[in-house]
Amino acid sequence: MSDLEAPLRPKRKKIWVDYFVQFRWILVIFVVLPISFTLYFLTYLGDVRSEWKSFKTRQKEHDANVEKVVKRLKQRNPSKDGLVCTARKPWIAVGMRNVDYKRARHFEVDLSAFRNVLNIDKERMVARVEPLVNMGQITRVTVPMNLALAVVAELDDLTVGGLINGYGIEGSSHKYGLFSDTVVAFEIVLADGSLVRATKDNEYSDLFYAIPWSQGTLGLLVAAEIKLIPIKEYMKLTYKPGCWHPERYAQHMLILLLPEMGT
Ligand SMILES: Cc1cc2nc3c(=O)[nH]c(=O)nc-3n(C[C@H](O)[C@H](O)[C@H](O)COP(=O)(O)OP(=O)(O)OC[C@H]3O[C@@H](n4cnc5c(N)ncnc54)[C@H](O)[C@@H]3O)c2cc1C
Repeated sequence: MSDLEAPLRPKRKKIWVDYFVQFRWILVIFVVLPISFTLYFLTYLGDVRSEWKSFKTRQKEHDANVEKVVKRLKQRNPSKDGLVCTARKPWIAVGMRNVDYKRARHFEVDLSAFRNVLNIDKERMVARVEPLVNMGQITRVTVPMNLALAVVAELDDLTVGGLINGYGIEGSSHKYGLFSDTVVAFEIVLADGSLVRATKDNEYSDLFYAIPWSQGTLGLLVAAEIKLIPIKEYMKLTYKPGCWHPERYAQHMLILLLPEMGT
């Protein structure tokens, strides 16, 4: 008997999951997208509200919020309350790391108010920002001034705190290093409630070098000073044909990035 003559197997009876999969577009269009849109819109309104405030007001709010963090940390009983972590919910964070540890015995500190650009210092070419400032927000502020962060991570939602304590990287990292390499100072509240400013050459320089990639294990970042670079409205791109010999490629990159060394 050929395959064509064989009796057809009866089809499996449809169950609710099949209908759910078939009509998932209803859920996506009428539930997921409106919720997503509303969340984005509220975040955007928050950013606009922040931009309306004067730098003085933002600094005042910052000081008050740091005070709250210090007070919260001082309430902690290390032997009873467990380790400190940020109270940021996993469904808001961009990262897909398993954050089950937040369900364990942990002492959460709310940093959700830290979302202001505190200062743009055009002389020092430095932006002082709070950790929940994201890439979209800072770009909207700096680009009209013909300035940008040296490393702007690709997604608008990535936050300064996440890119420093995780490891932010983007195309311009070929030239400027990781996102954390473009930071000139970290302001951190340590577990004992003390606020410190760490730079590469002050008494907290060990902290300065240890904070990047620390995933928030060393302290709570409440502000960062990040290097800015001048930008123009357009840029000229020159395509060079690939040269894959490792030595020639390295030479090529040296000439491009550090002309004085490549000669
Ligand atoms: C689709 C996609 C695209 C991506 N593209 C890029 C990219 O272009 N470039 C890039 O570099 N990365 C990229 N990433 C990775 C991204 O950088 C990480 O996921 C990172 O976790 C950023 O997420 P977040 O800003 O939501 O930070 P979170 O996930 O909230 O934080 C990251 C870590 O930092 C700690 N942390 C955050 N804020 C503080 C604080 N104030 N004090 C102490 N600790 C803190 C958190 O506890 C956590 O351990 C991408 C990820 C996805 C999913």
